[in-house]
Amino acid sequence: MNEGFDTVWGVATATGRRSGNEDSYLADAPVFVVADGMGGHEAGEVASAIVVQEFEDLRGRGSVEPEDLFDRIERGAARIRALPAPPGRGAGTTLAGVALGTRGGAPYWLVVNIGDSRVYRAADGVLEQVTVDHSEVQELVDAGELTPTQADDYPRRHVVTRAVGAFAQVRPELWMLPAGPRDRMLICSDGLTGELSDAVIADLLQTSGSPQRSADALVAAALANGGHDNVTVVVVDGRGLDDDDRTIPSIAEVDDDTFPREELDPMAGAKS
Ligand code: MG
Repeated sequence: MNEGFDTVWGVATATGRRSGNEDSYLADAPVFVVADGMGGHEAGEVASAIVVQEFEDLRGRGSVEPEDLFDRIERGAARIRALPAPPGRGAGTTLAGVALGTRGGAPYWLVVNIGDSRVYRAADGVLEQVTVDHSEVQELVDAGELTPTQADDYPRRHVVTRAVGAFAQVRPELWMLPAGPRDRMLICSDGLTGELSDAVIADLLQTSGSPQRSADALVAAALANGGHDNVTVVVVDGRGLDDDDRTIPSIAEVDDDTFPREELDPMAGAKS
């Protein structure tokens, strides 16, 4: 349990210029997830809904463990793989989320990711991207073959290298961040980050007020900038005792608090 610490949140989603909305979300303490489905013939919509549905039984829990998240991702993946699909068009989905956990009696954000939906943390006006995309374009940037500016125009920038269901293996990544009442967490599909720069996202997160107003403002801005893709935004604020003395560590500094990924990846080395 996290005595004296909880969350308030807001959600917004829009279809944009697409014919249907293949994003799904669940936002109910202590679990907040966004999934962006892929695959033809409505398969993406079904896939994202399936993985999100797996998280529903975590609603109302006082605290969540990493294994709780991995179990549900794995169950969702199995159900998605079992869907009928035309050859080569298997359904899959991204999954990015934040859940409230506890370490040593202190509240922690458990951040999980597969694919190119994202989690950001805004704390004291500083926005940091927590997750790292599992995408072809991110791999090219990491390899030094593309600059971040070139990446914005890369034609295959929507190609993901990990997903729930589309590949035999499920390889989620996990981060653990100390949680505080000055934290505002953002979970979003790539329909947001494809339209808005981090600077614009940071500004809207900081100036728009409540989590719901903030989510609405972000989605409205993405639509105003073109709305080429489905866009889904969940904004979660930590709420609790004043912690003005707390020094908020940057994402890079909390690596010691981040579980070894291999250790907690239940599918590491496994074949299915
Ligand atoms: Mg998308």
